[in-house]
Amino acid sequence: MSAVLAVEGISKSFGGVQAVRNVSFAVAPGEMLAMIGPNGAGKSTTFNMAGGQLRPDRGRVLLGGRDITGIAPRDVWRLGVGRTFQITATFASMTVAENVQMALLSHAGRAFDPLGSARGFAPDRALALLGQVGLGEQAARSCGELAYGDVKRLELAVALANEPRLLLMDEPTAGMAPRERIALMALVASIARERRLAVLFTEHDMDVVFAHADRLVVLDRGVLIAGGRPAEVRADPKVRAVYLGGGATSGGH
Ligand code: ADP
Ligand code: MG
Repeated sequence: MSAVLAVEGISKSFGGVQAVRNVSFAVAPGEMLAMIGPNGAGKSTTFNMAGGQLRPDRGRVLLGGRDITGIAPRDVWRLGVGRTFQITATFASMTVAENVQMALLSHAGRAFDPLGSARGFAPDRALALLGQVGLGEQAARSCGELAYGDVKRLELAVALANEPRLLLMDEPTAGMAPRERIALMALVASIARERRLAVLFTEHDMDVVFAHADRLVVLDRGVLIAGGRPAEVRADPKVRAVYLGGGATSGGH
């Protein structure tokens, strides 16, 4: 099966710091790939190269086989890459449904229409998306009233409005309670499977990683030191030594 995202030998330095060194991996349709590693390992830098925020010093980024290395984030988004939870995408004064309608409008190529036109745009489609993320009942509420976990669900619906083939999620559950984390990632996993959506995510909670990742890649000081199915990675001595602290299944600092 051809990869949705493939990075080939990407590297990035900041001054004297080599943040990412010759990293390669691929994500298949419908696959949940977790990227783990200690703080400073180069995870966010890798995400930023995949999403167009940073241009690699070396190597290539391929989306569905097409070379997208160094293209602008807006163009990466247009090609079907969703990026959730990094920036708060929601507008607090708008209703939950209107936020999704704005995203649908933008996907339809009408981003510069005034807000007024979003209110009438594709309401059924917006409700269907909200239903998928478990926010059907909250559609008419103002976003400012949502609980934190529900804001995350809304951000997911907003990302899905663009019909992405790849979702990049850098620490999507940061700031959430453990139960909410598991629930959010279970939702993402079920949507990924249903839509054949490829997902690359980072997560510090190893319970969440091992519950929902189909495969893992492990970064340490900018280098990809291991990759494979969760059981293989968990058993890898290199991973245990640098990351899992010799047998622990939680942590990540
Ligand atoms: P992670 O997301 O795994 O915690 P990062 O990709 O954020 O790691 O950082 C990797 C390394 O690159 C760290 O040493 C970090 O300090 C450095 N770094 C990241 N972004 C920048 C930047 N914009 N300028 C300078 N150094 C950076
Ligand atoms: Mg990071």
